[in-house]
Amino acid sequence: MQRLLVTGGCGFIGSNFIRHCLTTRDDVEITNVDKLTYAGNLENLADLEGNPRLQFRRGDICDRDFVQAALAESAPDAVLNFAAESHVDRSILDSGPFVQTNVTGTQVLLDACREAEIGRFLQVSTDEVYGSLGAEGLFTEQTPLAPNSPYSASKAAADMLVRSYVHTFEFPAIITRCSNNYGPYQFPEKLIPLFISNALNDRPLPVYGKGENVRDWIHVIDHCRGIEAALQRGQVGEVYNFGGKCELQNIDLTRTLLRLLDKPESLIRYVTDRPGHDLRYAIDCSKAERQLGWSPQVDFATGLQETIDWYRDNAEWVERIRSGEYQTYYDRQYGGR
Ligand code: NAD
Repeated sequence: MQRLLVTGGCGFIGSNFIRHCLTTRDDVEITNVDKLTYAGNLENLADLEGNPRLQFRRGDICDRDFVQAALAESAPDAVLNFAAESHVDRSILDSGPFVQTNVTGTQVLLDACREAEIGRFLQVSTDEVYGSLGAEGLFTEQTPLAPNSPYSASKAAADMLVRSYVHTFEFPAIITRCSNNYGPYQFPEKLIPLFISNALNDRPLPVYGKGENVRDWIHVIDHCRGIEAALQRGQVGEVYNFGGKCELQNIDLTRTLLRLLDKPESLIRYVTDRPGHDLRYAIDCSKAERQLGWSPQVDFATGLQETIDWYRDNAEWVERIRSGEYQTYYDRQYGGR
């Protein structure tokens, strides 16, 4: 058995990672540590409830006593840090929680893991730490960090801390940096789920600026497979980029979504651009392909159609989030413990 401690497992990528691991392997046990912020939803793991190989502990990665106790109790072979404040727009409104969770939380985890002599630590990071590209070029693992939003600055600070612990303490950490994810269970404030659920309800789709910003889209399961490959086969101290090789302008993605949903383009509303909006992200993931034997597998057209179908079939999940009702799920299931 491999014992993993996953932080942020009630969010979008963490919950997909937990489901992916538990359904593709029988030799893994997972402790999920999550604070259940507005983005954390225990319903994302409802289908795994009662699975003896999954434990849940509610708590904050910034709380040293809590983290130490969780590590002592679960004695993991490896820790994977997904927990973060993750929405750029919220970081522009208030960067405080981003610095707290993404920087201080990572530092608390690193210290506790070092003290507990954890065998491997994986920091889940983002391509946004590299800043913005012009029309040409790709981010490689050598691209200098040049974050442009409070969110990406806090993630870059965490990456730097991880790097320093490897260098200073021979701490066994790996960093992964991935491009924009899409797929089931993504909180409906992010572009793809927001636009799908708005379009399904004939509400306007707010497109920033002229919609010319380019993102490289990857299916969340391809990201999860990459994280697992890095965990099992990655070299300590290394960074691995993951991307979907699928660059799209936001406006083209919006039009594709409307076409697949059979909704009119008149739903598009151009709104004032996000301040400091990065123009283009695109990832060179050849290192992960060469060294981890990983490559993105999900074809974008197929993945997008499946994602649309998932949001259509799970309209109540979106509705419970929109109404705030999902936040009572924990109390219902766990009696407020
Ligand atoms: P998310 O916002 O959906 O989920 C974050 C989870 O972390 C939630 O369950 C939340 O409750 C939990 N959390 C927040 N603060 C916490 C704290 N202090 N203690 C414990 N738990 C806490 O985010 P996501 O999209 O699943 O992203 C997961 C990770 O992947 C993040 O580190 C993010 O930076 C990174 N990432 C995301 C993308 C993307 O496209 N979504 C791309 C690359 C990297």
